[in-house]
Amino acid sequence: MGRTHVTEAVVLRVGDSGEADRVVTLLTRELGKVQALARGARRSRHRFGAALAPFGHGEATLRQGRLEGMFWLEGLYGARGFPRLPLEMGRLSHASYAVELCRELCPLLEPEPQVLDLLLALLGALDRLPPSERPSVLPLRCFELGLLEALGLGVALSACAACGGPVGPGAVPFDRLRGGVLCAGCHEGGQGGQTVDEEARTLLVRLSGLRPDSPELATLPQSPAVLDACRDLLLGVVRHHLGRTPKAVEFIARMRMKMDRLSL
Ligand SMILES: [Zn+2]
Repeated sequence: MGRTHVTEAVVLRVGDSGEADRVVTLLTRELGKVQALARGARRSRHRFGAALAPFGHGEATLRQGRLEGMFWLEGLYGARGFPRLPLEMGRLSHASYAVELCRELCPLLEPEPQVLDLLLALLGALDRLPPSERPSVLPLRCFELGLLEALGLGVALSACAACGGPVGPGAVPFDRLRGGVLCAGCHEGGQGGQTVDEEARTLLVRLSGLRPDSPELATLPQSPAVLDACRDLLLGVVRHHLGRTPKAVEFIARMRMKMDRLSL
């Protein structure tokens, strides 16, 4: 018998394996991202219950398999979870995007308790919204900034990503390969490439110090042009690390043809 871990977990993905089993990707507090086989989960819901579904949250019992990095999910004792996420397309798409980033960017078996806390804060804030209210994009920006920082992929916004020197004022060069804004001296050639204007940069710096469920978010300026600039900048960074466009973003682009106002 392998060692057993009992740890808080959020379900990132559930797939089928054979006729009876499910293969599950979890973000856990103790072990980080884990893939586990839930034996018999397609036939019996007794051991796993409603928590064995995307965004499920609870206490997972994981037994180490014989092969390194292989786990059996023995049980998932569900907490309240986030039952209101599927009630409205806006919050569902934000939650799906956040879960996709955790699934694709978190390394296997490296504990990232900060990432779990960020994800729980975002899912909780989305779940608490009144049913008719569409989610603000600011919590999502906080989540992206915090996730990248926690994974060692943090975006330099206040000082030059290359030399650490001062940047700005006004629009400054932004180089996602070098990890953020650049001073004039480090911006070789001194022209072309992406820039970030001062308003967007100031907002991103404020957001990087806040949690996705912070009440302070409601007090921040929300000009649509600045919000779009922040989204495009961070989505560019995410695409760079992922090597592709997140599936949730493609889904939103398709849905937007049918429902305007759906946005990240
Ligand atoms: Zn520099």
